[in-house]
Amino acid sequence: MSNSVGKKMATRITHAGRDPESNFGVVNPPVYHASTILKPTMAEHRASKEPGYTGYGYGRTGTPTSRSFEQAITEIYGAADTVVVSSGKAAMVVALLAVVKAGDHILVADSVYQPTRLFCSGFLANFGVETTYYDPTIGAEIESLIQDNTALIYTESPGSLTFELQDIPAIAKVAHAHDIPVLTDNTWGTAVYYDVFAHGVDIVIEAVTKYICGHSDVMMGVVVSNEKWADKVRQMAKDQGQCCGPDDLYLAQRGLRTMGARLVQNQANAITLAKWLEGRGEVKRVIHPALPSHPQHDLWKRDFTGSCGLFAFVLQDCDPVAVDAFIDGLEFFGLGASWGGYESLALPGNPGDIRTATEWTETGQLIRIHAGLEDTDDLIADLEAGFKRLTAIQEAK
Ligand SMILES: *Cc1c(COP(=O)(O)O)cnc(C)c1O
Repeated sequence: MSNSVGKKMATRITHAGRDPESNFGVVNPPVYHASTILKPTMAEHRASKEPGYTGYGYGRTGTPTSRSFEQAITEIYGAADTVVVSSGKAAMVVALLAVVKAGDHILVADSVYQPTRLFCSGFLANFGVETTYYDPTIGAEIESLIQDNTALIYTESPGSLTFELQDIPAIAKVAHAHDIPVLTDNTWGTAVYYDVFAHGVDIVIEAVTKYICGHSDVMMGVVVSNEKWADKVRQMAKDQGQCCGPDDLYLAQRGLRTMGARLVQNQANAITLAKWLEGRGEVKRVIHPALPSHPQHDLWKRDFTGSCGLFAFVLQDCDPVAVDAFIDGLEFFGLGASWGGYESLALPGNPGDIRTATEWTETGQLIRIHAGLEDTDDLIADLEAGFKRLTAIQEAK
């Protein structure tokens, strides 16, 4: 079995979790379809009930297919353990429930992925957990929001839709001084561009659905933990009966092998599009952490080693019908949720509706762009034609 720990990222992505010698030399791990897993003897059956048993007990609690994928993600993150779950959203749920109990208070960034917010304000509130949403740019001042019963700080940097960056090392320093963990949703940065454990995070959530899988055909998530939280997180995933189908696990692991190479192109294409959009009169503002125009660009430069294909821009104020015409005629940018696949997407968002600690004051329509792997000349021509449609309607008003 290859051990890629400590090697450079591209090498880890290529080799982590694979074991050709145990599989007749076959390069990729085999796909085991399993529920029942037979034990050869009573002695082995008894051993499988003991804590710390490392064999395979039952399909739901791990197969060679799921464990090789978990091992790969653990090595890539340089973490203690990974559990694979049924979606990125499930990863968020497992991570939060592994830490909180009734009567606790939690701190959640105002810019988090909307389903995370809905889970906190809905499910967690119903079970006696109180959430305070905080300004994502708060940094070390988060200390003033910590209460005696605060159980965790939940971060996501950059934030969904609005891309505020968080000073996670500053937040982690405060959190650890109060002996509480920092959770982060690292779906944007991925292990490739944001070494979150080195920046003080304890538990990481990543939607495998996005860049790891990378082909818009699998729903999956991972929760990646440091030593301190590994057992609690694994137990919570087990308590919830979390597991994934073997064919999806195979696709996720296959996607993983090309993630580094794909991200290089997603990143380059996104920056090309973002810079082009910055020069357009129809655009009020481009929001991309890797551009110097981003308000927390310095934090991105300090903490990240790259950027992915996802960013946003805000249109000048215009008629909603003109926005519809812009989106509806796009040839290569699909209109759909999710991202991280090989294809480009354009999705309008309304961040003003989903925040309480901060205010979203932009009046123009925000459009989130996922830069896929197409040629940027064609993508730019597509956007340019869209602006022509938008302007034609706007001028006729
Ligand atoms: C998509 C997404 C998720 C959820 O992942 P699913 O696999 O779609 O459930 C979580 N966090 C972020 C930031 C996402 O973009």
